[in-house]
Amino acid sequence: MSDNTFTLTGFSSVAIHGNESKHPNYAHVTPIYATSTFTFDTAQQGMERFEGKQEGYIYSRWGNPTFTDAEKVIAAMEAFRITHPDGSPLQLKALLHASGQAAMTTMFMANLKAGDKILSHYSLYGGTHELMLKVFPEAGIETIIADLGNISIVEEIIVNNPGIKLVHIETPANPTLDCVDIEAVANIAKKHGLIVTVDNTFATPYLQQPFKYNVDFVFHSTTKFLNGHGTAIGGVLIGRDADVMNGKITKWQRLLGGNSNPFDAFLLLQGLKTLEIRMDRHCSNTMAVAKYLKGHAAVSKVNYTGLPSHPDYEVVQKQMKQPGALLSFELKGGIEAAKQFIDNLKMCVRAVSLGTADTLLCHPATMTHYGVPKEEREKFGITDGLIRMSVGIEGITDILNDLEQALANS
Ligand SMILES: *Cc1c(COP(=O)(O)O)cnc(C)c1O
Repeated sequence: MSDNTFTLTGFSSVAIHGNESKHPNYAHVTPIYATSTFTFDTAQQGMERFEGKQEGYIYSRWGNPTFTDAEKVIAAMEAFRITHPDGSPLQLKALLHASGQAAMTTMFMANLKAGDKILSHYSLYGGTHELMLKVFPEAGIETIIADLGNISIVEEIIVNNPGIKLVHIETPANPTLDCVDIEAVANIAKKHGLIVTVDNTFATPYLQQPFKYNVDFVFHSTTKFLNGHGTAIGGVLIGRDADVMNGKITKWQRLLGGNSNPFDAFLLLQGLKTLEIRMDRHCSNTMAVAKYLKGHAAVSKVNYTGLPSHPDYEVVQKQMKQPGALLSFELKGGIEAAKQFIDNLKMCVRAVSLGTADTLLCHPATMTHYGVPKEEREKFGITDGLIRMSVGIEGITDILNDLEQALANS
């Protein structure tokens, strides 16, 4: 609970005190409001809440105090130290969802109708890619995939495809950590009146704030770094236009029904408090792992945006505070070496997903991209020997020792 006469200047201060809610009984930590519905003292009060004349909760698919506290903190993190040209602070509105996919669905469905097109890029998260290329076409919404890293072609594509209504950016993206220059793409898109959306899951608001640029909506899979402990699936959609967020977006969210739940929102609130210190540790560990792997004889390539050898190093220097906690690397021994290496791990965990306190490794060719034909995945750098790593916050010596013994025996 913060006093609004006191300005919070640190990211973690906002993460810890960024909601102003006061709870009955003076609970120090936001309680888990495990209730489907809320009571009215009188019929008049019920009517006023429905009319929006009186603030208050009605039904948890529409809103719940545990969700509200998490939403306020995430909105404050995304807006941290961003000001309008007149110096006033940026105000954002966040809506918690059941998953990253649910947040994304609200965002796209509320903004698009049959006949509209999305412009996006290669290497999107698998669920996003399938939604855009396999599900939305059934609703009459098509997606054009292009190399948005090549800024010179973006305007031409927009001009040649008048159906494009929205440009969707995911940066950094899976598993080769390709990045897109948010500012450059957003400026072109806005010149043509398009909606710009960003998946900020890999970066988190601590490392990257897309609202510094001309973007309309940002979403996260909170399942990853924001929760940070791998204890819940969740998502959040954040927007800059309060009327749009409170109007159209809220309506779609409530009626599509992808709401969060109080226990997951509570877990998320605990994770948010330590985001800054976790990310600092995640990033320093990842840099150490990248440098170690780069010098290893069994490794032919390391994809990490913190290494000057990564093609998007400059973009990352410009738009991210630090290069993040995901990397991938290729083993010279191909598929057999990759499987053996994964089997050899003693401390690091064999699992998909990312952003947990522990280090997670997966083999995209046999796991996340198993369904993608070999020739197609190789075009995006997903070779047989590629390993993806979400570097955790364990002691760096233990992470390096585990990699060392797993590589020696593969
Ligand atoms: C995990 C993830 C999603 C989907 O989120 P869920 O919480 O699994 O629904 C979307 N985008 C990115 C980048 C992700 O990592």
